[in-house]
Amino acid sequence: GSVLDRIREIDPRVGAYITVAKETALSRAAAADRTVAEGRIGPLTGIPLAVKDLICTRGLRTTCASRILENFVPPYDAAVIEALNAENAVIIGKVNMDEFAMGSSTENSAMGITRNPWDLSRIPGGSSGGSAAAVAADMCLGALGSDTGGSIRQPASHCGVVGLKPTYGRVSRYGLVAFASSLDQIGPLTKDVTDCALVLSAIAGHDRRDSTSVPRPVPDYTAALRSDIAGIRIGLPREYHSAEGLSPEVSSAVRSAVEVLEGMGARCVEISLPHAEYAVAAYYLIAPSEASSNLARYDGVKYGFRDREPGDLLEMYRGTRSRGFGPEVQRRIILGTYALSAGYYDAYYGKASQVRTLIVTDFRKAFDVCDVILSPVAPTPAFPIGEKVDDPLTMYLSDIFTLSANLAGIPGMSVPCGFSAEGLPIGLQLMGNHFDEETLLKVGYAFE
Ligand code: GLN
Repeated sequence: GSVLDRIREIDPRVGAYITVAKETALSRAAAADRTVAEGRIGPLTGIPLAVKDLICTRGLRTTCASRILENFVPPYDAAVIEALNAENAVIIGKVNMDEFAMGSSTENSAMGITRNPWDLSRIPGGSSGGSAAAVAADMCLGALGSDTGGSIRQPASHCGVVGLKPTYGRVSRYGLVAFASSLDQIGPLTKDVTDCALVLSAIAGHDRRDSTSVPRPVPDYTAALRSDIAGIRIGLPREYHSAEGLSPEVSSAVRSAVEVLEGMGARCVEISLPHAEYAVAAYYLIAPSEASSNLARYDGVKYGFRDREPGDLLEMYRGTRSRGFGPEVQRRIILGTYALSAGYYDAYYGKASQVRTLIVTDFRKAFDVCDVILSPVAPTPAFPIGEKVDDPLTMYLSDIFTLSANLAGIPGMSVPCGFSAEGLPIGLQLMGNHFDEETLLKVGYAFE
């Protein structure tokens, strides 16, 4: 009830929600109350959560912030939604994002922009900007986002909340609308690290319906929070700390965080990720290539929007896709289709895949000498709305610190670490070895 009041009061200014599921939320909250009365109470019982609008919710519109899916009501729940329902969490509604998760500012949404609750003239980050803004402005207690190249960590950083991209394969992607299937992961955005561990515990685990989900037991992530971090080895990538475009404010906030952790007994080691500089180029070939293939299904026949101008089948396809998709999505489809076309495949997609392997090797070597890697999340605090929207290349470059974790499939977490002079939140990124979310949570918890 109070979260719904808060949405009514605040959201006209922030614009985090696309759909508020008031009736079902109230009835599920009442059902959660009954389980409590029966003495069955879990950590998520009755907890109001927001869900990024590309995770399928049965009977509840799932738009991907796109015209092409504007009226799409999924007939099934994503695996993560089933898991949250099983814990008696309450899905409050569906939140805004860049269309099909393509972007870093939530400005590429067909449903309107979302504003940063800390400063309404600035972007909340993206693509899970609605999730981060809803958590930051108390319009839910936690949210789910998806992260293909930073879309959980970067908005978390810009909105001063915690965001975790789990290891590729840790959380089922069944029911997640695919952007780039080899990079996508679902994860939590929460107020603190403890809540992050609780939501991760609920959604992690094997699922036969996602062939890339891994059959490994799920540890008790909250147990990880109890141990101390003395002796833990923190890797500081040489390349990141001198990265071009890194603002002095971000750099000094991250440096003070390192000192705090050292004060707790952590040990710093300099590491090298020599291929990190190629991550942006590799990602912006691989992600659009996979997107061009995944988005081929939106043809006006099977789903959602269909252009009804008279004409033949090809004209219907053309009309549907050029009116249904926004400019950034069309740009990526064209890029990806080009990169995958006969004669270019080896030069582009093939090369990018080789670079990806080099990035994986960089991390493998780094984790021989450290337990966790610490870096900035984004080169600057949240930028003003409109600043980069007409300049896709500059927008892409702001992803330099986050893309590598997706290319390597390793977990990454954003934890608030300070504020800029203008009072904007700054986050730090922790990256861990495959399936070692526990170390990230442990270090994040010690720090916060
Ligand atoms: N900003 C990146 C992109 O535009 C990452 C998005 C994401 O993680 N979904 O592709």
